[in-house]
Amino acid sequence: MATKHRPRGASNSGAAPRSPAGRPSQSILTIDLAAIMANYRALRRRLGARTTSAAVVKADAYGLGADRVVPALVAAGCREFFVADLGEAQAIRHVLPVRIPVYVLGGLLAGEEAAFQRHHAVPVLNDLAQVDRWQRAARARGRALPAILHVDTGMSRLGLAPDDALSLAAPGRLAGLELRAVISHLACAEDPGEPLNARQLAAFKRLRQAFPAARASLANSSGIFLGRAYHFDFVRPGAALFGINPRPGRRNPLHQAVTLRGKILQIHDVDPPRSVGYGATHRVAGRSRIATVAAGYADGWPRSLSNRGSAYIGNLRVPVIGRVSMDLMTLDITAAPHLAPGDTVELIGPHLSVDDVADAAGTIGYEILTRLGRRYHRVYSGGPASR
Ligand SMILES: *Cc1c(COP(=O)(O)O)cnc(C)c1O
Repeated sequence: MATKHRPRGASNSGAAPRSPAGRPSQSILTIDLAAIMANYRALRRRLGARTTSAAVVKADAYGLGADRVVPALVAAGCREFFVADLGEAQAIRHVLPVRIPVYVLGGLLAGEEAAFQRHHAVPVLNDLAQVDRWQRAARARGRALPAILHVDTGMSRLGLAPDDALSLAAPGRLAGLELRAVISHLACAEDPGEPLNARQLAAFKRLRQAFPAARASLANSSGIFLGRAYHFDFVRPGAALFGINPRPGRRNPLHQAVTLRGKILQIHDVDPPRSVGYGATHRVAGRSRIATVAAGYADGWPRSLSNRGSAYIGNLRVPVIGRVSMDLMTLDITAAPHLAPGDTVELIGPHLSVDDVADAAGTIGYEILTRLGRRYHRVYSGGPASR
């Protein structure tokens, strides 16, 4: 994003604020680092004095940019991070001192032993072969290597089978490893009424007793809201840090972290019997004003919002009409005749949360965030070293 254009202001109205620098045709994604820091602190306030909070920043901090989000979380007090794979660990090492550990949830695959050590990444060991592999690396290195054990208590996704985990509790069986923690992951934490939560909790309590020297961790964002019994030594929120509601159907206790303003590229006044977009799926009922906005499915704006989604102009809701295409979508702005090309509309913001967009699209907020497009002009606000 090397080019710097002056914001255009001439045609903007009060309802559509002037855009910050960026190409005039770009929609604008604003990431509020101060909100992410406030969310981290708010989650910590729910924990007891002996419980700390790591942060899960896989998928480039849920699409928001790990190189900016991670330093903000460090400034908010976070001292351990989880990512999905070694590449992500390597990517955040540039912004993280080596004394702050980065744990890799995907485990330790054959051939990664040297790179894990080079990038000061700590593997979350998910099966016995990974345990053996890391022990061999420790022997070759001549010193103990740090590790986390992940035990599968009911998710059937990653982690050691409980019996395999218990076999590792035998004296000397983990020689060469510095066991930092034992963790497990909840399958249904966002649903407090789901009996699997209590079953996983009971299984995890049994397992962690076999490793009394290691710290224990079970809760993701939603797990934090299941109560203190689920907190153990540290919790592992991701989504809630970024404003996704950890308690679907109830009031969101966290701050929204993103705002997306769609840039209007062109406006058409059309009369029946005209149709709009691919497949001619929307036919105008009367004289209509149609705004074409720079956000499409290649920007992560879901095609399932075709003829279903919304945007806001101030407090006015306007509908998505026709199909969302690769780079563009169309809105019926008949009720907002003052808009002009270059103005912006709210796609995510005070009237439309990430969760609202996800509901309309038939998905979850996690998917909306992690697909936020790379073609948007990205602006970071707040944070430790606001630029
Ligand atoms: C992604 C993930 C988390 C964070 O989950 P959120 O629901 O985003 O808080 C925690 N633990 C594990 C093992 C994960 O894969």
